[in-house]
Amino acid sequence: MRLSQMLFVTLREDPAEAEIPSHKLLVRAGYIRRIGSGVYAYLPLMWRVLQKVSQIVREEMNATGAQECLLPQVQPSELWKESGRWDTYTKAEGIMFALKDRRDRELALGPTHEEVITTIAKEMIRSYQQLPLHLYQIQTKFRDEIRPRFGLMRGREFIMKDGYSFHTDEESLKQTYNDMDRAYRNMLRRCGLEFVAVEADSGAIGGSGSQEFMVLADAGEDEVLYTGDGKYAANVEKATSVPPDAIPSSFTSYEKRETPDTATIATVCDFLKCDPTQVVKNVLYQVVYDNGMTVLVLVSIRGDRDVNDVKLQNELTKLAGEFGGKAILALTVPDAEAQEKWAAKPLPLGYIAPNLEDDYIIKTDKQVHAKFVRLADRTVVDLKHFVTGANESGYHVVGANWGEQFQLPKIVADLRKAEKGDRAVHDPTQTLESARGIEVGHIFQLGSKYSEAMGATYTDENGNDLPLMMGCYGVGVSRLAQAAVEQSYDKDGIIWPVAIAPYHVVIVVPNVSDSKQMEVAQQLYKELNAVGIETLLDDRNERAGVKFKDADLVGIPYRVVTGRAIKSGKVELVERATHESGEVPLDGVVSLLQEKIDRALEK
Ligand code: ATP
Ligand code: MG
Repeated sequence: MRLSQMLFVTLREDPAEAEIPSHKLLVRAGYIRRIGSGVYAYLPLMWRVLQKVSQIVREEMNATGAQECLLPQVQPSELWKESGRWDTYTKAEGIMFALKDRRDRELALGPTHEEVITTIAKEMIRSYQQLPLHLYQIQTKFRDEIRPRFGLMRGREFIMKDGYSFHTDEESLKQTYNDMDRAYRNMLRRCGLEFVAVEADSGAIGGSGSQEFMVLADAGEDEVLYTGDGKYAANVEKATSVPPDAIPSSFTSYEKRETPDTATIATVCDFLKCDPTQVVKNVLYQVVYDNGMTVLVLVSIRGDRDVNDVKLQNELTKLAGEFGGKAILALTVPDAEAQEKWAAKPLPLGYIAPNLEDDYIIKTDKQVHAKFVRLADRTVVDLKHFVTGANESGYHVVGANWGEQFQLPKIVADLRKAEKGDRAVHDPTQTLESARGIEVGHIFQLGSKYSEAMGATYTDENGNDLPLMMGCYGVGVSRLAQAAVEQSYDKDGIIWPVAIAPYHVVIVVPNVSDSKQMEVAQQLYKELNAVGIETLLDDRNERAGVKFKDADLVGIPYRVVTGRAIKSGKVELVERATHESGEVPLDGVVSLLQEKIDRALEK
């Protein structure tokens, strides 16, 4: 491609909308343009990158026996009502774009495709002989994200590879899951990315397991906790750890104490001269289930630790049935306005004890459960002579014990946020370290959640109808492409890994009015393209300095300059990543580039 004929506009200044380097660079170098919040145009250079990423993904998927298809983006609401996700996706998270057609029928723009694929499986899979089966697609997804940002990292319209597999049993599912683990590692390695695979939260589906692939970068929205021995890495949402040991309490007898202005752990510890590990903190939450039921929740946790909202949400989802619901619409710490809706009298906030009386909740509203659901994190179970609130503003109790002044809640679970510096579970001599990560892929053993909800069954060898076992596997193609930039740039611009660069080589003609320079460049351009080296020709009537700056910004791996050296039958070859340059005889440049590119592409 000749730059003089391309829509090629680079910007000197960082765009105001962009916060992180990769976003700035992709806009400045003319790869993407913002059209609306979280909505971007992929310009020709970007589209080439995305196609290359897609092709690598496709090759690795096909190698596992998965088959490509293309599913509809417009999805009838009935499917989502069948699976029970219509309300959570349109109301709770509100992440799904829903619309009505001219006949007033509800539709949605696909944020993901479990419902569509399960419907197909339900209709088309009859027998165990058709299994296992794995279908995937590469397609634009729509999600009305609360906070679209960072360009392609969190868009409202983005490209995803999503695959769904069907199995007779868990063993077969595990096998495909492991194949996907390998395929994903291959994809990311081939795309030139450094990444870690981490244990991930699998929501309330639980048990079966899920793994995310994280590109480590400061701009990442996820936190990863890992150990130096390489044996443990997990998303903080899922991570577990051994908490620091509690310091034994010095309060030997039970007493109520006046503790004015001590509504926080820090202030009460300061006032009572005790350690946060001696305090039972009671955190109030409000959960709204999908049937509209509001339930108030008290979580008792050690004073020095924080509740992990994802773990709490999973635990509360397990309880949904008790309140007539299936899923959670919202889990929040109720503010003053929310409290007004259900509080029968002012709450002793900051001084709550595990036995806060149920009569703080009004009894007149059928949509509000009249009792607190009480949960305890494991950190409080073994505490002795602890400090906690006295259910009265300005007062605490000290020297309390479970089974004496307070009942340990029946539900005890790991609800604690693991933190950097905690000891690792697999080896307490290892401590957890923290890093930021960009989630580029997620593989997931779904089990029979969707097949059971939607009645997708198969007939086994003995004629029994059984629900299909399912797995699902996603790669954020457009996010991955930008993550590559976030991981590889310098002060001059983007440094694309060869495998996903829009072009391999850019030939820069310093002076287009020098006919010799142009002639050599055009000849080389022809030869390179003829052997399959994707080449750009910068034949614009611009100063050499401008062209070099643009070439660096755009980040093409190799630059060939037809400058002064052509007099001695040579061209200058510059590697973008290292800025290393040298003169190469004209007749050797094609084979040299071919060699370098093949090596980079692992051919
Ligand atoms: P996140 O936690 O980042 O919101 P998710 O868990 O909702 O992602 P999945 O449903 O697992 O994402 O989607 C599969 C992949 O699609 C993710 O691993 C990610 O790479 C990509 N992805 C998800 N949401 C977006 C988005 N808004 N913009 C770009 N890529 C996205
Ligand atoms: Mg995910």
